[in-house]
Amino acid sequence: MNNKKTHVDFHCHISDAYDISYRNGAHFYGFLQRTKDFGQAVLDKTLAQTQGNQANAIAGIVNFDDDRARGLVDKIKREADSRRLGYYQSGPLLVINTINARLGFIASQELVTDRGDVLFVGVPRNIKSRKLGDALMEAKDLGALRLGCHINGVRSLNSEDIKEYWAYFNGVDRTNMGLPVYAASDSHTVQGMFKNYTLFENLDLSGWRGLRESIEGGLRFGNTFTIKSGKGLGDYAEMVRHLASVGFVHGIGLPLGLMKRETK
Ligand SMILES: [Zn+2]
Repeated sequence: MNNKKTHVDFHCHISDAYDISYRNGAHFYGFLQRTKDFGQAVLDKTLAQTQGNQANAIAGIVNFDDDRARGLVDKIKREADSRRLGYYQSGPLLVINTINARLGFIASQELVTDRGDVLFVGVPRNIKSRKLGDALMEAKDLGALRLGCHINGVRSLNSEDIKEYWAYFNGVDRTNMGLPVYAASDSHTVQGMFKNYTLFENLDLSGWRGLRESIEGGLRFGNTFTIKSGKGLGDYAEMVRHLASVGFVHGIGLPLGLMKRETK
């Protein structure tokens, strides 16, 4: 239980179609593969990441405009209960103690702002503003980590936006922007979690505030290593699978996590 290393995947969506997958257990990928409840599957996948690595593992559970992240964290907590594992909650953070490692889950939000996509890790409630500056300020007040995501992607912030709000960002997922760099999977399946992750030493796992500060410090001082397998959403095959899934679910008229965004 005294692992000094922690693998952090800040950006896990778990599934493409939050509504049918989370509530009813059937979505495109699930038709092919799913046998477990999402709480079970996420806990097992995170546990597997710690085994053989002598490391703790933390996942940012990321939703869009719905309350899926907190719902999923609750499901994971119930699964820990049923396995008689000890755990504690601190704000948006759930930490589960296993024999060899600690598993952390942080309720988080991906937001489409007027300037591009941002990731807020550790939000007690959803941030509503779509203006980049307002959203960043609100996230800071709420005690969330503020990360640039999908940099160089379709709806990416550009370097001018990053420069303007530089002091508000804790990190970005690409180099050469003058900010600390992190790696994350942007996984839309449980199987994709931890394909990319950031390796931290000596994180404070005693509560959300301590964890947030130690992550900020680790990113700032560069005491981290980004591990990329290239199999997140940036991976071509995974992108095709993801778009097919989104198209399929949307095509049959079911609500989508990705589509369910307020336009104003
Ligand atoms: Zn994402």
